[in-house]
Amino acid sequence: MTRLHGLDPTLTQALESRQPLLWLNPRWKSKADWPCERGICFEDVENAGARLMRLAPLLSALFPEIKDSEGLIESPLCPLDALPTRLMRSTDSAGRWFMKADHALPIAGSVKARGGFYEVLMHAERLAREARLFGAGDDAYKLAGDEARALFARHEIAVGSTGNLGLSIGILAAALGFKATVHMSREAKAWKKERLRRRGVMVVEHQGDFGAAVAAGRHAAVGKLHTYFVDDEHSRELFLGYSVAALRLKSQFDAYRVTVDAAHPLFVYLPCGVGGAPGGITYGLRHVFGDHVHCFFAEPVACPGMLLRLALENDRPVNVRELGLDNRTEADGLAVAQASDFAAPLMRTRVSGVFTVSDETLFEDLYLLEQTEKIRIEPSAAAGLRGPKWLLESEIGAHYVAEHGLTNSVERAHHVLWTTGGSLVPDNEYRQFHHRGQVISSARATGDAVLSDAP
Ligand SMILES: *Cc1c(COP(=O)(O)O)cnc(C)c1O
Repeated sequence: MTRLHGLDPTLTQALESRQPLLWLNPRWKSKADWPCERGICFEDVENAGARLMRLAPLLSALFPEIKDSEGLIESPLCPLDALPTRLMRSTDSAGRWFMKADHALPIAGSVKARGGFYEVLMHAERLAREARLFGAGDDAYKLAGDEARALFARHEIAVGSTGNLGLSIGILAAALGFKATVHMSREAKAWKKERLRRRGVMVVEHQGDFGAAVAAGRHAAVGKLHTYFVDDEHSRELFLGYSVAALRLKSQFDAYRVTVDAAHPLFVYLPCGVGGAPGGITYGLRHVFGDHVHCFFAEPVACPGMLLRLALENDRPVNVRELGLDNRTEADGLAVAQASDFAAPLMRTRVSGVFTVSDETLFEDLYLLEQTEKIRIEPSAAAGLRGPKWLLESEIGAHYVAEHGLTNSVERAHHVLWTTGGSLVPDNEYRQFHHRGQVISSARATGDAVLSDAP
């Protein structure tokens, strides 16, 4: 067995053997007196929300398909009624379930639209201001004008990605007139690369994993005055873009007359790759809902990079290879061996726990979601669907509920499953996912397969 300094041996062994598990964060802290931390304050989230609002007309000028939403990039919050009965042993105290449908975010088709668009917009605005093409009182669509386009055409935006971040950054950068380069890791699906090339984005294919693609992109940008590299392993702006989701979720809950308080706790389950998206969302949610929200991340058993880092006694960058794990998963959006240096430290006191999921379960749950709710997602986005089951039907979940004094309120809880990607997946690809899930699901139903995703 591997010995990692500052990691519990039982946990080490379970992770090494790729056993699905729920880990509870012992450093979870009450919101009480949160200072600004690592150069970020809640005010920054509110400011980011206001900026996106101000720049919305630009997006609506660039992408006619979002005219109806006046350029606001947002996804619906939908009640889930049928899925719980398929997933849970009993729904008696399972509360009320919702899906936050980021798989349907316009243009990019994934949660990456939130962070990716934000960072590209901020960069574009900054360049235009520096060139004195854009000032405080100017209308946002000036950034789509000829002068701005000519300016952006002299600049490059680059990024390293497993697929979806590349789509998000590449599509918007190209639409604004930037030269765009996406360094894709080995997992990246062919259709995502094709889609970008059709829009004039330069796609560089790498044999290595996400970390290697990011390193290659970062290296290629060094010393290039006119190249801006979006660094998913360190980005504060991606994080802020994602965090705005919390403000929006609050108003969506208001529309459903859902209250979040001591008597009605909120549980949120978020697929996690490098940690920027679930981290930003959690950061925002913990500020908006305080101690009444409980955020859990979901990672594939082959790449629990965030779990590993958070479980270490002393925070330090750590790669799942140190556990002998190979970071190979069909969940391309989550195929990340090492957590974000920006997001991970901020999650140390804010996230409630992390659970892991096998690829078989991803496909099975993707299939079940389509069967019960007619909703199509990609494998990565299915990672969080077992969250309520872990919380409500496992011993360790019961421990969390008891320890946080939720025993009496948990049956009135709201559970939000964050579906993070999938609406752009081509039909033939989706049919293969669906078929795989169907085979696994019927094998389990007849007891042929012993695929033991606890609980
Ligand atoms: C990127 C991604 C995530 C996770 O976001 P990170 O910032 O990498 O943690 C989740 N789901 C999908 C579909 C993604 O593309």
